Amino acid sequence: MVSVMWFRRDLRLEDNVALKQAFQESDSLLLLFHVNPEQFLGEDSLNQAVFFNSVENLRKECEKNKATLHILYGDLEESFSKLKKEFPQWSDVYINRDETGFGLERDKKASVIFKQLGVKAHGYFDHHIHSAREIKTDSGTYYKVFTPYFNKWTELQKPTRVEVTVDHDKLINEVRFTEDEEQFERFLDKQVSIKGLQLGNQVAHERLAEFIEHDLSSYHESRDFPLKNATSHLSKHLRAGELSIRTVFDQVSRSKDSLGKETFIKELAWRDFYNMVYASHPDQKFQSINSSFRHIKWENNEELFNKWKQGKTGFPLVDAAMRQLKETGWMHNRLRMVTASFLTKDLLIDWRWGEQYLQEMLIDYDSASNIGGWQWAASTGTDSVPYFRIFNPTTQSEKYDKEGDFIKRYVPELKRCTKSKIHEPSKLSEKEQSDFGVIIGKDYPEPIVSHKLRRNLAIKTFEESKNEHA
Ligand code: FAD
Repeated sequence: MVSVMWFRRDLRLEDNVALKQAFQESDSLLLLFHVNPEQFLGEDSLNQAVFFNSVENLRKECEKNKATLHILYGDLEESFSKLKKEFPQWSDVYINRDETGFGLERDKKASVIFKQLGVKAHGYFDHHIHSAREIKTDSGTYYKVFTPYFNKWTELQKPTRVEVTVDHDKLINEVRFTEDEEQFERFLDKQVSIKGLQLGNQVAHERLAEFIEHDLSSYHESRDFPLKNATSHLSKHLRAGELSIRTVFDQVSRSKDSLGKETFIKELAWRDFYNMVYASHPDQKFQSINSSFRHIKWENNEELFNKWKQGKTGFPLVDAAMRQLKETGWMHNRLRMVTASFLTKDLLIDWRWGEQYLQEMLIDYDSASNIGGWQWAASTGTDSVPYFRIFNPTTQSEKYDKEGDFIKRYVPELKRCTKSKIHEPSKLSEKEQSDFGVIIGKDYPEPIVSHKLRRNLAIKTFEESKNEHA
């Protein structure tokens, strides 16, 4: 049996369900990554750049293991037809299935193509701890609220690591699709990069071990403070599957019991929850889940949207967060909530604009978690923050960046402000502005909106949508 292992967001040679099966069941095996131009987001997308970096890391890891990761580039049907022409004896393909979004649609298309080519597809479940369809209420429906979902999630037995044996004798290494590889490399060359960013399976393992040793037990207390930087930073490895979620769960579970450990495991369950929500609401990328909020009269002011993107809103914590995203491709979870709330409530800009921007910018972009996070913050999702509970960007700043040091890291204009003055620079007197070396309105913007007024307007706007729907 001549098979293909088609990697997608499982870019690793260890603890990989489909890869294990492929080695076990095949006589010869070709390792493959297909670059699908349909999925491209544009040349300055950090998300895309970093994803392809992960592919390149897998290619290098394969080389180290004396294996070739073959690259096919182009339209799905043309690419696989070309492969079949090169390997008429190709009979089986192994994949870890996608349950939602673009990946799900791509898999449906691919399964028709494989049928036409006479290739048998073997699909496995790998990317989450529990699959979207595994956890349902006693009456067989999907959960809408996290807590009962989590209670059920906790009761279920967890999948364990799978051991992959790379059998060199089975590998098909000699053939190369040179033109496709060149396309991929040309494309890699053009991509933007992030200084100091390290990816790959080895780096991910080191990060996991370091996190467990130093930060896990206090995670429940420190995870909300951006300056402490005490979260795992595993999301960029998980989204491309550089590290398996089973490996993460397994190693965390073996560590000493603590409140931090409990809280962290709950976050992994949120990842599963949002995957389930996406599977049960396939149109959630384009439509608010809660029908009461499908008629919100968003203002969608492009000038304000650009100021938000650039980190020039005049609200220091929001600006620091948006600049952190631009510089590093990552944003702390608390800040994702604050900035998303600010965009949708203070600026009354459609959450889909924000979701799309983060899709381009996040190096850990995961459609289910991003859409889930946005619909949560915009109060339009299932189990979202209530529409009248609006984050105050100034009090969030005072609470979670008390000393203002996180702000100073990303908003250097404010670096001389004292901790009691940094959270609301628009209130600085002329003398303070001169002492701190920042002129408000010139060096740092006045607030682009009044939080108090916009809060009231947001509540009114959401209520109008609700009434219209009723
Ligand atoms: P840790 O705190 O160390 O958490 C460990 C892991 O648990 C994360 O790596 C992630 O896989 C999972 N996790 C943690 N919190 C959440 C959550 N709220 N929802 C789902 N999974 C979670 N997460 C993404 O992975 N990709 C996204 O595109 C994404 N977009 C978001 C957008 C918004 C508006 C919001 C509010 C949240 C978003 N999140 C997203 C969730 C969360 O912010 C990130 O998972 C987290 O900040 C990643 O950093 P970390 O790995 O250090 O997390």
